[in-house]
Amino acid sequence: MTVEEAGEIVVVGAGLAGVRTVEQLCRGGHRGPITMLGAEPHPPYDRPPLSKEILRGDRQPADVVLRDAAFFADNHVDLRTGVRATGLDVEKRLVLVENGPAVHYDSLVIATGLQPRQLPGAGDLAGLHVLRTLDHCLRIRESVGAGPAVVVGAGFIGCEVAASLRGKGVEVTVVDPLPAPLAGALGETIGRLVARLHTEAGVDLRCGVGVDAILDDGAGRVRGVRLSDGAELAAPVVVSGIGSRPEVEWLAGTPVEVGNGVLCDAYGRTSIPGVWAVGDVAAWYRPALDKHVRVEHWTSAGEQALVVANDMLGTGRPDQPPVVPYFWSDQFGLKIQALGDIDPADEVRILDDDGRRFLAAYVHDGHVAGAVGCGRAGRVMKLRPLIAARAPVSELA
Ligand code: FAD
Repeated sequence: MTVEEAGEIVVVGAGLAGVRTVEQLCRGGHRGPITMLGAEPHPPYDRPPLSKEILRGDRQPADVVLRDAAFFADNHVDLRTGVRATGLDVEKRLVLVENGPAVHYDSLVIATGLQPRQLPGAGDLAGLHVLRTLDHCLRIRESVGAGPAVVVGAGFIGCEVAASLRGKGVEVTVVDPLPAPLAGALGETIGRLVARLHTEAGVDLRCGVGVDAILDDGAGRVRGVRLSDGAELAAPVVVSGIGSRPEVEWLAGTPVEVGNGVLCDAYGRTSIPGVWAVGDVAAWYRPALDKHVRVEHWTSAGEQALVVANDMLGTGRPDQPPVVPYFWSDQFGLKIQALGDIDPADEVRILDDDGRRFLAAYVHDGHVAGAVGCGRAGRVMKLRPLIAARAPVSELA
């Protein structure tokens, strides 16, 4: 495909992956028209600060806008916020939208991200929150001062929300059925090191226990949770961080192949010609692993956007995204960074641990498969070449 053949481009989803794709298309010489549809009322913004600086009140929404109106105008991009895509007509190359006329495309990019999972049976109670959008974040921020908070789920979002609320002086309890925070992503050994940060900061960490029921006050407000061990925690604020699922419902009934996300080849092409998918919603085929992998990380969205834009415009052989995935998390003033395809079941070698900061490597079949550092930015990055080369474990210093 060439710049001309890409024709009218429509990007569904005005988040990071959508914006990065538009940026790369513009850099690659596409001069429009591009139409970008975003379900949220806001201009595209960056999500990582939602559980960190914005929740703590250290930054404001205007500080995290990804691109301003001038960027879209200068690049002939018609950004339509508050417009939700509801379906596709792939024969006529139309995106169907809620309350409006369908939008024609020659080339389409699906970048609709994730939808947070809701706690089963919880209903719509005041004081019960999830965190994916700016509006979610601002509602949680407004709740600071209302009383204690329970965070359900000790994954990245749950841990960051707990750290940010605790930093604002909120009494926080974190509940998770796994034995340690982040155990699902990083394994139990590292999870226990992360647990130290939380308990040291005064978070009441309840691991190995689930939530049986969300309790309401009979007047539409949450009043706490009941745990699987029978304990009841009173709290006017409950934040659920139990994971997300790809935002693919709008594709139901279309021929776009969906599994755990929109299934793509190694260049982000979906099963339908002229349709690509990027970012959290996309499950790209990874030749080295011989499977489709969906990655929910900021860095990956930008890397995929470059590959897709190159492929759409035919501006050079698209490169594979780097073989060493990366993500970070900020908790209690420390940066936790992880590199590689980490399998929580992998053997963990602790390389350094001062009781708060640490560095560890993941070993899979005798080679270095990944690394995680907490407050060890420089040293964790030095392990990248070993991970990329799948170096034998003997090369770990
Ligand atoms: P999104 O940013 O979710 O954008 C998708 C957009 O599509 C949304 O605006 C949505 O409203 C819109 N949309 C959905 N359906 C439709 C539809 N039918 N029609 C039109 N528009 C639609 N990653 C890290 O590596 N480090 C971090 O520290 C980190 N912190 C995070 C903290 C939080 C609170 C969150 C939520 C995420 C964090 N991430 C972090 C993950 C990172 O932000 C995501 O990987 C990134 O935002 C993915 O971008 P995306 O464009 O694929 O999805």
